[in-house]
Amino acid sequence: MDAWVVARPGPVATRPLERAELPDPVPRSGELLIRVEVCAVCRTDLHLAEGDLPPRRPRTVPGHEVVGRVAALGPDTAGPPPGSRVGVAWLRSTCGRCRYCLRGAENLCPASAYTGWDADGGYAELLTAPAAYVYPLPEDVPAETLAPLLCAGIIGYRALARADLPPGGRLGIYGFGASAHLTAQIAIAEGATVHVMTRSAAARDLALRLGAASAGGSADPPPEPLDAAILFAPVGDLVPVALAALDRGGTLAVAGIHLTDIPVLNYQRHLFQERTLRSVTANTREDGREFLRLASLHHPRVTTTPYPFAAAGRALADLAADRVEGAAVLLMDG
Ligand SMILES: [Zn+2]
Ligand SMILES: [Zn+2]
Repeated sequence: MDAWVVARPGPVATRPLERAELPDPVPRSGELLIRVEVCAVCRTDLHLAEGDLPPRRPRTVPGHEVVGRVAALGPDTAGPPPGSRVGVAWLRSTCGRCRYCLRGAENLCPASAYTGWDADGGYAELLTAPAAYVYPLPEDVPAETLAPLLCAGIIGYRALARADLPPGGRLGIYGFGASAHLTAQIAIAEGATVHVMTRSAAARDLALRLGAASAGGSADPPPEPLDAAILFAPVGDLVPVALAALDRGGTLAVAGIHLTDIPVLNYQRHLFQERTLRSVTANTREDGREFLRLASLHHPRVTTTPYPFAAAGRALADLAADRVEGAAVLLMDG
């Protein structure tokens, strides 16, 4: 099959992705073989390509926002029949037995494995995935629209949940890429007032079109104190900025898997009055199911920038340079 692999992790200008002809993967017991329709490009793919997240195995196929169709089931596997449309996301598997799994926090499972990092992902014609970890997807929505929901949407939803936004509260969103634009729409549909802070003028325009109450520069103070905030930009310098913008009792959730160093915090200015700083680590399958339910209820507008499969390297370079509006998606030819 035709695929892209992370050959030499490094700056995107050094072309870390390499096109490769790989043997077709074979599903093991409990796994599905899936033919890829569309794979969205996540910022985590960029972190993997550039080596911010060190490779866990050589020459891995990245990509964990996969919309495809079941092509075959592994031996003794219960799952959706061939032809069914399914989504493959970042969380590939967990142990199901550890103290975290047993208390419903499978996102913290030390033995968890991730699509496109521990196993080959969706920058390819085919991939395998455990049947218990794929999501059934509707037929009446284009694959290009569904793909960004699978990481950008699900992780953004978990970040929103971790930010503890009270009903009808004021939410600040720092950075406005693929994940943020979906999260903002869900929050607005559920009754929140959303203020967006981002360095990109195009993203500020998009935020206002999608219903944000205000849109300012990345470190600008919002027009009112925030009950909750989510930091989507992988920029540690914005942590004190966002904490200072919180109202008493507010929570800041850091959505990214990678963040540059956080500068020294000042207790009075950034944390006192019971403000809370939290990280967000992957997601549970329950988060995924709940987000996909909300998405089918509220139909968030999904802005995508399509790329042909052959242009995966360019998609990553454009993402690195902030040239992508909404989510970049790789379309399989034919
Ligand atoms: Zn576990
Ligand atoms: Zn992702």
